[in-house]
Order: sequence, then structure tokens, then C-alpha cells
Amino acid sequence: MVCLCAQTCYLLDQQIREQEQAFLKEGGIRERMTRARLEVRDAQEQPAATPVPACPLCGKPMRQRTARQGTNAGKPFWGCTGYPGCIGTRPAPPE
Ligand SMILES: [Zn+2]
Repeated sequence: MVCLCAQTCYLLDQQIREQEQAFLKEGGIRERMTRARLEVRDAQEQPAATPVPACPLCGKPMRQRTARQGTNAGKPFWGCTGYPGCIGTRPAPPE
């Protein structure tokens, strides 16, 4: 009887130790969930987000605008977010 109890304790102990090892290797459930969530979010955001170019004049991020006048009126283009302080532009991204 004592022997049986000792064996049960040993098995339980071993099981706990295995779980500890797995925990240390893979991180806790929160860490794993965070990682999974970040992976899903990256996968969702990557294709949707249009890469924003930097201004060729000042390096600030650019914003998509629509030309109001000139030969390109009505057409989209990248304009500097520093406008009107900066007049840097880039041609519109291909659609
Ligand atoms: Zn600029």
C-alpha cells in the first residue's frame, strides 16, 4: 500500500515536471495567446495596409491626395504630410 502510494506520488511528480518543462519551453498560456494574436493581426494587416512612402524632400510620411488642378486633376498622388511647408510629391501607387 505504501509502495503504491509512493509510485502514484512519483508519477504525479513526473507529470508536473513535464508540464513545467513544456511551460518553460513554450511560455505560459497568456504568452502563447499573445503570440497567436500578433501573428493573426500581422497576417490581416500586411496585405491591407498600403506601404506609405517617405517624402523625397523632407522624409516625412506621405498621404494620398487627389490633384485638384493641372493636367493630373482628379488623379490620386502622394503628397507630403508637411504640406504646405513642404511640397514634396510622388506619383500615385498603381491600382
Ligand atoms: Zn516633405
